[in-house]
Amino acid sequence: MKSISKVASGIAPSATLAISALAKEMKAQGIDVIGFGAGEPDFPTPDNIKAAAIKAINDDMSHYTPSGGILPLRQAICGYLDRTFGLRYDPSQIVVSSGAKHILYIVLQTLLNPGDEVILPAPYWVTYAEIIRMAGGVPVIINTTEENRFKMSADELRAACTDKTKCVIMTNPSNPTGMLYSPDEVKTLSAVISEKDLYIVDDEIYAFLTYSGEFMSFAAVSEDMKERTIVVNGVSKTYAMTGWRIGFAACNSQIAKAMSNFLSHSTGNASNIAQYASVEAYNGTQETAKLMRDEFIKRRRYFVDRVNAMELVSCTEPDGAFYIFMNIKKVIGKTICGDYIGSSDDFCKSLLKNGLVATVPGSAFGCDGYVRWSYATSMENIKNGLDRLEKFLNS
Ligand code: PMP
Ligand code: GLU
Repeated sequence: MKSISKVASGIAPSATLAISALAKEMKAQGIDVIGFGAGEPDFPTPDNIKAAAIKAINDDMSHYTPSGGILPLRQAICGYLDRTFGLRYDPSQIVVSSGAKHILYIVLQTLLNPGDEVILPAPYWVTYAEIIRMAGGVPVIINTTEENRFKMSADELRAACTDKTKCVIMTNPSNPTGMLYSPDEVKTLSAVISEKDLYIVDDEIYAFLTYSGEFMSFAAVSEDMKERTIVVNGVSKTYAMTGWRIGFAACNSQIAKAMSNFLSHSTGNASNIAQYASVEAYNGTQETAKLMRDEFIKRRRYFVDRVNAMELVSCTEPDGAFYIFMNIKKVIGKTICGDYIGSSDDFCKSLLKNGLVATVPGSAFGCDGYVRWSYATSMENIKNGLDRLEKFLNS
């Protein structure tokens, strides 16, 4: 049999999804594992949004839609971006697809030619490096440090640019670290992006979940930056709608049109019903989203204080998202529960086996010596999970 494509055979599966699948499988076998793997809100989708989906079904919204999304949703997104982040777009500049993940995939397919370089500050979300490669691009990793709050400086960005650099991917606030670039930092990096004539893919999926500091979109810096920024966002995290699969891009009309063309030959369109539910998410009451955000703030406080009270591990307080990026460097080289811990992979495997707690190794995000915990889970799970971590570290 002839071999499958080089691109497909080179793809590594998503570590975050793999770990949550493993935790769910262990649970199904009756093992009392607590999952801190995939980052998805544990809350139900708000009732007003569910009601809008049921209405869409009853109204027979069950046919194809325009490939870039229904007009009411693109209008609702424009209203949301303006009210929440001060970003002004025309509905023709909005492209809707099946989740922000697919939007990111399509953005890179639209921007990159084979061999184009994409700058990616590490630690980075697992999917970026793979989708850059799937589009024929070359990820150029800039390693950041915890001392600099895991942030890339303008000098580091400038030094990484070559003639082949096409774009930069930023996540603000970050997955996995939760760090937020301040408006000043956004402006300083923007100066380099303009100077080097780059595009920027600005993944703002956690922007609403900012707890400390001020969020600023790269698109809000100047008209020039708005032209070169592809804002990516969606309903998954803000409205606890991960399974509904609606994400969007806001960008210049040329890119939006090219993306819609791409979609017209791939997904066709995102679910019609989920699009109507998302209209309600953006236009309806934001109270439930705010209550969920308040709950994440409480969990973050508890998590950070407990981790930092432990002797062998620590974390820098995140500004947003729902992740703790825990430093385990003091544990590297030690033996716990009979297992030698030489890396974050070893740590996570041993913690899962001996502590029945599922976490994601920093290596999946291009940063060993750390472990990611998602606190998008109940306070009870967080308390029990951290009790188990403490017991594990003391053994
Ligand atoms: N970007 C980041 C940084 C994420 O953590 C996620 C989570 N899956 C996504 C994009 C994609 O979200 P979704 O596809 O559910 O909209
Ligand atoms: N973005 C979430 C995470 O990082 C969901 C899993 C995924 O899509 O990879 O855990």
